[in-house]
Amino acid sequence: MSKRDYYEVLGVEKTATKDEIKRAYRKLSKKYHPDINKAPDAADKFKEITEAYEVLSDDQKRAQYDQFGHEGPSQGFGGGGFGGADFGGGFGFEDIFSTFFGGGGRRNDPNSPRQGADLQYTMTLDFEEAVFGKETDVQIPREETCDTCHGSGAKPGTKPETCPHCHGTGQLNTEQNTPFGRIVNRRVCHHCSGTGKIIKDKCRTCGGTGKVKKRRKIHVKIPAGIDDGQQLRVAGQGEPGINGGPAGDLYIVFHVKPHELFERDGDDIYCEIPIAFTQAALGDEIEVPTLHGKVKLKIPAGTQSGTKFRLRGKGVPNVHGYGTGDQHCIAKIITPTKLTEKQKQILREFAEVSGKVPDEQSSNFFDKMKKAFKGD
Ligand SMILES: [Zn+2]
Ligand SMILES: [Zn+2]
Repeated sequence: MSKRDYYEVLGVEKTATKDEIKRAYRKLSKKYHPDINKAPDAADKFKEITEAYEVLSDDQKRAQYDQFGHEGPSQGFGGGGFGGADFGGGFGFEDIFSTFFGGGGRRNDPNSPRQGADLQYTMTLDFEEAVFGKETDVQIPREETCDTCHGSGAKPGTKPETCPHCHGTGQLNTEQNTPFGRIVNRRVCHHCSGTGKIIKDKCRTCGGTGKVKKRRKIHVKIPAGIDDGQQLRVAGQGEPGINGGPAGDLYIVFHVKPHELFERDGDDIYCEIPIAFTQAALGDEIEVPTLHGKVKLKIPAGTQSGTKFRLRGKGVPNVHGYGTGDQHCIAKIITPTKLTEKQKQILREFAEVSGKVPDEQSSNFFDKMKKAFKGD
């Protein structure tokens, strides 16, 4: 079987930084971890990803791989390294599992305490709600420990028994003799589905799972300045832990609706302000809308379309508390489309006194145009 390129496996460029590699690995390992992904090829995929990461995250191994490919200068990389390997860089199995899957302790022991799964919830916010934050209640459907059996899954008064087939380990070994020697396969015990326990009298409330689906109301404080796509972690509000482990976390992902007037870029707000051409030419003081109420803005005489005016501190409060952004008002000079006969008359007179070329800027333009078309 020919091996896939490690960079291809992780879906990163050859020039990827260590951080990019780490991120790609985290994402993929979360997707293909056999505890989560039940597809038949998930375990192989996970192994492939881990092997690629093991090599690409190590400067020396990566340099060797870049130079010599899978073969390595003298011996191959893969194969032996998987399982309990030290990944270096302070980022090993424990790290990933404690972040994403809970864990700690031996992964093989079905009775060891494990952290519950993380939950994700998408919340849509109005533009202003995201800017100023709000407090709200959300209803999260999640699994909770069954009150009737307190999570054991057994009918009250009875207890789950240790699975006699796997002796409580949740795994069965099958041995196979092949021309290459004896291969021991370890698989999940199908008598107890890997729990290591058999429940003879199932709890009626939860049907033996020890868990019930419930909707739980959670009070959430959304910080001012949250932006589209950002997420908020609510610790301990995910699925309950297994075998007395800690609960997972709840991640609220925000979707922010666009605003009719304002556009947001980070902590700054952009807003187009329509200005009559007479106001732009003569100057004026106008009122402009901001998220913090109306504000007076001086338009200097001779303002051009596209000129930006900055209103300091009229933007979005920084979500981490670092001050408040600005509002940028962009002048948009409006040319009138419906003129009365009197207005037309005045404008004709204006054109006559100012000549066909109104100012230096446009005379430059006409000079350049003349040069460009000299040959014609
Ligand atoms: Zn129950
Ligand atoms: Zn069993």
